[in-house]
Amino acid sequence: MNGNDVYDIVLLGGGPAGLTASLYAARARFKCVLVEKLGLGGQLLTYEKVDNYPGFPEGVTAFELVELFSAQAKRFGMEHRSGEVRALELDGEVKAVHLDTGTLFAKSVVIATGCAPRKLDVKGERAFTGRGVSYCAVCDGPFYREMEVAVVGGGDTAVEEALYLTKFATRVHIIHRRGDFRAIRVIQEEAERNDKITFHLNQIVTEIQGGDQGVERLILQDVQSGATAPLDVPGVFIFVGLIPNADFIPPQVARDAQGFIVTDTEMAASVPGVFAAGDIRSKALRQIATAVGDGATAAFNAGRYVESLNHKA
Ligand SMILES: Cc1cc2nc3c(=O)[nH]c(=O)nc-3n(C[C@H](O)[C@H](O)[C@H](O)COP(=O)(O)OP(=O)(O)OC[C@H]3O[C@@H](n4cnc5c(N)ncnc54)[C@H](O)[C@@H]3O)c2cc1C
Repeated sequence: MNGNDVYDIVLLGGGPAGLTASLYAARARFKCVLVEKLGLGGQLLTYEKVDNYPGFPEGVTAFELVELFSAQAKRFGMEHRSGEVRALELDGEVKAVHLDTGTLFAKSVVIATGCAPRKLDVKGERAFTGRGVSYCAVCDGPFYREMEVAVVGGGDTAVEEALYLTKFATRVHIIHRRGDFRAIRVIQEEAERNDKITFHLNQIVTEIQGGDQGVERLILQDVQSGATAPLDVPGVFIFVGLIPNADFIPPQVARDAQGFIVTDTEMAASVPGVFAAGDIRSKALRQIATAVGDGATAAFNAGRYVESLNHKA
């Protein structure tokens, strides 16, 4: 390896955080590359419409927003490499980023690999995934035209996705283990007004049953009485939280109890030269607007870190 093989900044993950970080890094003329294992866009590729990203008073499709983010980063010369990050070596001033397609070297690394849906972890979930069990209403909702479906969860995403599913399904059953919702009031009220939605509160799913054609029913249990009852549905959409895409992150990078990377306000992680941005970071609000802010801050501070190394040399 000679000095020319070393990037200033390698950005991991092509969602809103990584795309924004690469826009800032490329525009500031750092030698940088964005690594993404799938298509650019991250979680935006899994849903339809974004209503709360500033600058779009009528909302914008998630796909269009991805196109705009990508076009802007490319205008400043964003270099993009397809590959999955498998491991990081973060000791020393030159970090190694091991991909399935080779190894990259960099003075600084911005981790923006986001997160994935948490599993319910009940009998039948794995067996029927893709055959009635789904984690993406936009992807699979249209399969349930004129049918009844269930949504499991009580946060913003669960209730928003239940509302979306009413476009196709004749009835959407929301199953929530608590007696009240964590979703913000405006979304919850919209769901309460929607006569296609039925709430099953204080209920958990203990099993997903079905046959050759896929899911046929859920077994629900009342958390107070312990009583169980079947709910006949051919589809169940699970929105019960998120787990960070962090398998490749070595233990010296501090993480919280859920595995999200702990940073300071400059997006610096616990290892010098390592920054984190977006949903992979330990924080309260995981949204496009916060991912974008994190990405800009992380790239800016990664750049400052690289300049401090260059001044030392
Ligand atoms: C159903 C749903 C609806 C939502 N609706 C909204 C909404 O209306 N408004 C809003 O503001 N937010 C919404 N969000 C949240 C928003 O999409 C996220 O907060 C945002 O996408 C986070 O961006 P990110 O860049 O941090 O991570 P992500 O979007 O998760 O992107 C991370 C990227 O990293 C890649 N990656 C992961 N691991 C690796 C690896 N090892 N190697 C290489 N690449 C890797 C992934 O493929 C992915 O492309 C929604 C999320 C979901 C799931």
